[in-house]
Amino acid sequence: MGSVGAKEVPVLLSPEGLRIDGRQLNELRPIRIQVGALHNADGSAFVEWGANKVMAAVYGPREVHPRHLQQNNKAVIQCKYNMAAFAVDERKRPGLDRRSQEISKVIGEAFESVVFAEEYPRTSIDIYIEVLQANAGTRCAGLVAASMALADAGIPMVDLLPAVAVGKIAGKIALDLKKEEDNFGDADLPMALVPQSGRLVLLQMEGHMTEDELSQSLELGVQGCREIYEKMKQALRERYATGPIGGSA
Ligand code: UDP
Repeated sequence: MGSVGAKEVPVLLSPEGLRIDGRQLNELRPIRIQVGALHNADGSAFVEWGANKVMAAVYGPREVHPRHLQQNNKAVIQCKYNMAAFAVDERKRPGLDRRSQEISKVIGEAFESVVFAEEYPRTSIDIYIEVLQANAGTRCAGLVAASMALADAGIPMVDLLPAVAVGKIAGKIALDLKKEEDNFGDADLPMALVPQSGRLVLLQMEGHMTEDELSQSLELGVQGCREIYEKMKQALRERYATGPIGGSA
């Protein structure tokens, strides 16, 4: 352990090339996806991804609120990402902040690329993402949960949207950063992929990378998204093979 000021800086990569949780550089954290977790929503999903716990609920197509957002030729997709005040160790100020507004916007825009919105003019498709426990990569976990909730609600889409963040830790490109890696690493690059076309519909970057590192990151991220895509399809198959969770109350 080294230290910067009062903060302990963990060793992000062991001499054997293993990460703080023992993962390889190209290894995802464990993911568990439960589709249809809520009764009241039209579609829902709960995702546990490493120490992240994220719930997504979808309502619609339904009447547009506020009304002035209504569009005559397509549905509007409204996304609200929220992180619970108890989701992180340090106290987080509850409610809407710039970060949640930004994440809501980029996730909503990503879904605009895959949802067949023209099929439901003058309606709204509302996506709610609630982060109950956060450990980095919550926007990606939110995208995965929302994809599953949209599919569960029967909203027609080109494809599901797997997502993952790639980053740079101790000078190496690593898949699916956890909190310490995000905090003490050199870069963080969340992305969402349309598997069918190979198109990225969300790509953000914090930190610094060379051009080579960027292309290496994109390659690793796409590979990670494809791995997550398989888990998403499996979760949908499980949901519809066993029927609704908890009966039809
Ligand atoms: N985080 C936090 N407090 C906040 C916002 C974020 O502790 O108010 C943590 C949380 O674990 C989050 C991580 O920092 O997952 C990384 O946040 P970022 O904004 O990069 O988004 P994310 O990686 O969750 O998509």
